[in-house]
Amino acid sequence: MKKSIFTACCLSMVLLGSSSVYADQVVFQPGSAQGKDMWLSSVYNNTVVDDDKLQVGGWGDWYRTLIQFDITDLPPVATSVDMYMYAYDCGDSSTSVSMIWYFLMSSWDEQTQDYYDPLSGGYLGVLPAPTPNSWYGILNITTAYNWWKAGTYANYGFAFLATDNNNQFNVFRSSDYSDYRYRPKLVVTYNGANLGFPLACSTPSCSGTENIVYTSPYTSGSIISVVDHSMDYVYSAEDGIVWAWTDEKGEGTPQNQGCYPKVGGGIFSLEGTYVGSPSDGCTTSYLNYDSHPGYDYKATYDTPVKSAAAGTVVNFGGQRCIPKGLSSCANMGAVGIDHGNGYITQYLHLDTIFVYSGNTITKGQQIGLSGDIGIPNAPHLHFEVLKQAPGSSGTSVSDYKVVDPYGWKGEYDADPLEAVTGIKNVCLWQNCQ
Ligand SMILES: [Zn+2]
Repeated sequence: MKKSIFTACCLSMVLLGSSSVYADQVVFQPGSAQGKDMWLSSVYNNTVVDDDKLQVGGWGDWYRTLIQFDITDLPPVATSVDMYMYAYDCGDSSTSVSMIWYFLMSSWDEQTQDYYDPLSGGYLGVLPAPTPNSWYGILNITTAYNWWKAGTYANYGFAFLATDNNNQFNVFRSSDYSDYRYRPKLVVTYNGANLGFPLACSTPSCSGTENIVYTSPYTSGSIISVVDHSMDYVYSAEDGIVWAWTDEKGEGTPQNQGCYPKVGGGIFSLEGTYVGSPSDGCTTSYLNYDSHPGYDYKATYDTPVKSAAAGTVVNFGGQRCIPKGLSSCANMGAVGIDHGNGYITQYLHLDTIFVYSGNTITKGQQIGLSGDIGIPNAPHLHFEVLKQAPGSSGTSVSDYKVVDPYGWKGEYDADPLEAVTGIKNVCLWQNCQ
């Protein structure tokens, strides 16, 4: 009989802490098409089982799990990477078990792998038993991630084996699980834009530096309209629907601009539901703003508006802003800031602007005051994030595409905004996951 070989050789994982405060974060949670994960049993199924769960443990036999993330499109260098798998309850008399994990150094196949196929890998240690019905964090795989990205070692992922098999089972949701929210995920933090909240704090409890670096983007400036992930053309009500999949917390009364059905099965909420203004004739299942390329935050007149990240005030075509779908920036009270990393943020409807094209701006610097320029009698801040299209020079408006700064919480390949713009959404807030 063939033996399974895990060669504990020359690898030692260097545990590096991350102290990066101003960093971007991307949450990578692949679905069934992109995810590569499966489990094997020494007795019942020698060959791979690629279903909606991942098992580690056994009852006399042995189950093990292999998992590998395709990190091709993720940042080249990370400051922190954590991996999560969602553990759930077997619903029987079994108990959970601690696990041995390996840094895999030989390839495996999700369709044909056999339990007794030899695999080589570096021993990484023993992990505690998971608690069912909670996320199981395998924290700080940063070194492995950076090795894979740098090509130091090929990315074959990790293997998880049980320390005991006396009716002991860990079961996790796999990338094939129907509810995308519970599939395995990587949380990758890297140096980048990292956005602060663009409005001054308006709650009594926050002051001082909290005005600049919010611990949460939700502490001020209620969201009253969201990015439409399905827009074909910015500011054109082309399909009469709004795709809103993100889970940012909104509240308040939506502004005007009509009512559109929310589709896509997402979890955006305004005051816990999908709110439309009764005065608009909307029902609670409708959102406003079809083809809306940003977030609107409720703001009274003259609320300080701050730069979400450091950068330079941009000027395309002699304007202070990128006229993204607008006939005239000057009529929209707009400021655009280029953050030098492929991202530009825009702030619209300001009634007072303190900065000029070419000015260098620090994170949290006050750039203007909120108002209703371009949208009379409806003061609010329109906050928009644009990302430079790959391969473009970044010197013209058309080089930039809208992205959702709250990221994309749905199945990785299913983001309709990516389908429209060709650019994946990335969570750019400090605490958006
Ligand atoms: Zn807006």
